[in-house]
Amino acid sequence: MRIFVDMDNVLTQFNKQMITYLRRTNLELIQEKVEKTWEIAEWFEGDKNRIKKSYAYIMSSVPGFWAGMEIMPGAKEVMDHMMKYHEVYIATAAFWGDTCIPEKVRWIRNHLRKFDLNNLIFTQHKELLKGDVIIDDKPKTLTMFEGGKIKWSYPYNIGVEADVEVVKWEQVPAALALIGQK
Ligand SMILES: [Mg+2]
Repeated sequence: MRIFVDMDNVLTQFNKQMITYLRRTNLELIQEKVEKTWEIAEWFEGDKNRIKKSYAYIMSSVPGFWAGMEIMPGAKEVMDHMMKYHEVYIATAAFWGDTCIPEKVRWIRNHLRKFDLNNLIFTQHKELLKGDVIIDDKPKTLTMFEGGKIKWSYPYNIGVEADVEVVKWEQVPAALALIGQK
């Protein structure tokens, strides 16, 4: 099968990293809002425009933000296994600025050494990708992709339709097998 795998909040612990970096700017987390909405600015007290500016600055300019993200537990082992049997692409958004693209490439080199970087796709338009399965958390991507969908479940994507929902990498092989049988 041809499989597209998302990076942020699927291979990488993006939310955890963003919360760490935003807290360094003295922002207070509103615990009951964490991961409840797609908009991270809503998770913090204070002026939303200021939070969005901090957020944009971190993503566009702060060295180490992208490259330093923790990998999701189990991701390496399952990716290595998947790459033996399937055509695996990483499909990820490229944020403007100088850091995102080179640091995402570096992150893949550091954590997924067996991944062929020729199979890395930077796009904000994953609905244009043609393949058998996408593994993603973003509501818009899951809604628009024309193929099998494995949803990485978060409170912000409850109700978004998918073929299978997962919360950890260990569940992915069985999810792929289920879609392969359809
Ligand atoms: Mg994502």
